Amino acid sequence: MELISGAPSGPLAEKWERHKFEMKLVNPANKRRFSVIVVGSGLAGGSAAATLGELGYGVKCFCFQDSPRRAHSIAAQGGINAAKNYQNDGDSIQRLFYDTIKGGDFRAREANVYRLAQISVNIIDQCVAQGVPFAREYGGLLANRSFGGAQVSRTFYARGQTGQQLLLGAYQALERQISAGTVEMHPRTEMLDLVVVDGRARGIVTRHLVTGKLETHLADAVILATGGYGNAFYLSTNAKGCNVTATWRAHRRGAAFANPCFTQIHPTCIPVSGDYQSKLTLMSESLRNDGRVWVPKQRGDHRAPGQIPDAERDYYLERKYPSYGNLCPRDIASRAAKEACDDGRGVGETGLGVYLDFRDSIQRLGENRIRERYGNLFEMYQRITDEDPYKVPMRIFPAVHYTMGGLWVDYNLMSTIPGLHVLGEANFSDHGANRLGASALMQGLADGYFVIPYTIGHYLASQPIPPVAADHPEVRAVEEAVRSRTSRLLSIRGGRTADSFHRELGRLLWDKCGMARDAAGLKEALARIPSLREEFWKNLNVPGSGEELNQGLERAGRVADFLEFAELMCRDALHREESCGGHFRTEHQTPDGEARRDDEHFTYVAAWEYQGEGKPALLHKEPLEFENVHLSTRSYK
Ligand SMILES: Cc1cc2nc3c(=O)[nH]c(=O)nc-3n(C[C@H](O)[C@H](O)[C@H](O)COP(=O)(O)OP(=O)(O)OC[C@H]3O[C@@H](n4cnc5c(N)ncnc54)[C@H](O)[C@@H]3O)c2cc1C
Repeated sequence: MELISGAPSGPLAEKWERHKFEMKLVNPANKRRFSVIVVGSGLAGGSAAATLGELGYGVKCFCFQDSPRRAHSIAAQGGINAAKNYQNDGDSIQRLFYDTIKGGDFRAREANVYRLAQISVNIIDQCVAQGVPFAREYGGLLANRSFGGAQVSRTFYARGQTGQQLLLGAYQALERQISAGTVEMHPRTEMLDLVVVDGRARGIVTRHLVTGKLETHLADAVILATGGYGNAFYLSTNAKGCNVTATWRAHRRGAAFANPCFTQIHPTCIPVSGDYQSKLTLMSESLRNDGRVWVPKQRGDHRAPGQIPDAERDYYLERKYPSYGNLCPRDIASRAAKEACDDGRGVGETGLGVYLDFRDSIQRLGENRIRERYGNLFEMYQRITDEDPYKVPMRIFPAVHYTMGGLWVDYNLMSTIPGLHVLGEANFSDHGANRLGASALMQGLADGYFVIPYTIGHYLASQPIPPVAADHPEVRAVEEAVRSRTSRLLSIRGGRTADSFHRELGRLLWDKCGMARDAAGLKEALARIPSLREEFWKNLNVPGSGEELNQGLERAGRVADFLEFAELMCRDALHREESCGGHFRTEHQTPDGEARRDDEHFTYVAAWEYQGEGKPALLHKEPLEFENVHLSTRSYK
């Protein structure tokens, strides 16, 4: 396997423009002769399917929800970044590029990140034209707020519902194409495998979640925009359905998986409250614009927060990182919260919580202003905790939130399987080892609206793509593999639900491959995962049949993939003997507890090649070359 990024040479700012000119085009009359499968209808997949349909390609789009509008992107709260510099506060494409590269701890590809920063400005125009109701200033201009890891205000938002509003924009564009007949939508349909013929991605095998019908769909190219795998940890801020199945199945068919250990732990989530919880709730990072994070200075101080005077509070982010304060990046803020709780100064019943306090901003701005900015988030918090955050500080704790790892892609967003393109959170993305807040929506929409429409045309125009017969032996083999796996899951009839295996796996990953990792813990996880997997295949219980709506079966398939994927995640974390971004190896830290990178040995993307059942994956390295930024120690002090 060879990893050729295909990033163009030449000055950074001109790469994408020149590349667009040099890529081949499909003429308008020929586009309808090409068919493209898009798996996923979130911001990345929905925008891609709509745009490709508008261009005239024959598109089939798939999602497992009952409507494309319910993709997990809908949950995004805080905002979307763009280097518009409406605030005149010093922002620029170069600054967004630099903040993103630095925020990712210098583990992302320069050319991709620069392109992302360039395209960011077009995204806002596109979404405004679609009618996305971004917040506006009094004079009518679009408003901005700040997010972590930046000293400028570049985040566009629609209250605490930015993802939902952006998704409605993409969904309208998609529906228009559905009604025009260029996009055929397949909701409630789960991709269970990838069809590769003569080394090229040529289709998918799906299961209809209501009827159980297995079907094969063939096309000239396949796009995966299936989101992230944070749910490997069981408890996360992701929607319950988020999974690794599509990308893991593609990995097993030859797509390299990059940086699987790069997971983002978000600092502001509602703390875990009990053993039976199946989901965690994010409190948007935007709240850190006006909320101050603190814990009591004294260990074991159980007084109510209002009774702890200012002099006895430790506003530890402001103390440790004076120039970024409460808006330091997520990985840094998460570790600082863990440190405070490990030190015995955590709050709430479990001691695994810190305060996010709005007292000062309410005094300064008034309750109404805070309500305008964050009203729905405050209401959500109150409904879940039964505490009024206008009166008492929120309690927050870090939780798994986003995955920077994903399928390896080149500059054209193509994986190591020709014809298989990967967009949005599903690819290993432009965020290196840590994503800055409000940059995932930007990346998903950049990929879908502005990158793939060019690069897929180039792929389709670059070589003849002969038709594949439905009875081609490769197609038949994949169909058979899906059928036998489904019946195997149903036939075990053991004593444990898929959920109970998932919960056990999640705890193990959180303990050994979560916010802090070390070699001993990772080795222990690597020893335990195969035996858990073995037990799964002996003792799983999936009631019902495959020919009906069967959520137990859906879950079982996803958990089976998490159980394989988890091993790769730990292996990747073990091999990366450095700390960078969200990957914190306790053996590699500075005396004051900050991440210590090893640029000499680890300035590369780790891309793993599947070697077969029970065999360790093979590591390939894409060296990262920095021609435009200096690899400095990341500091937010
Ligand atoms: C609570 C929360 C808040 C967030 N807030 C922000 C924010 O404010 N700003 C920001 O930039 N980012 C935010 N993020 C991150 C951001 O929302 C996601 O990274 C982004 O929306 C992912 O978009 P996507 O299109 O790649 O995937 P998704 O939106 O997850 O869509 C995945 C699609 O793939 C489909 N799919 C998956 N697997 C299969 C399969 N096997 N077969 C068929 N279909 C499949 C699903 O049905 C779905 O349509 C937030 C994340 C969370 C969890």
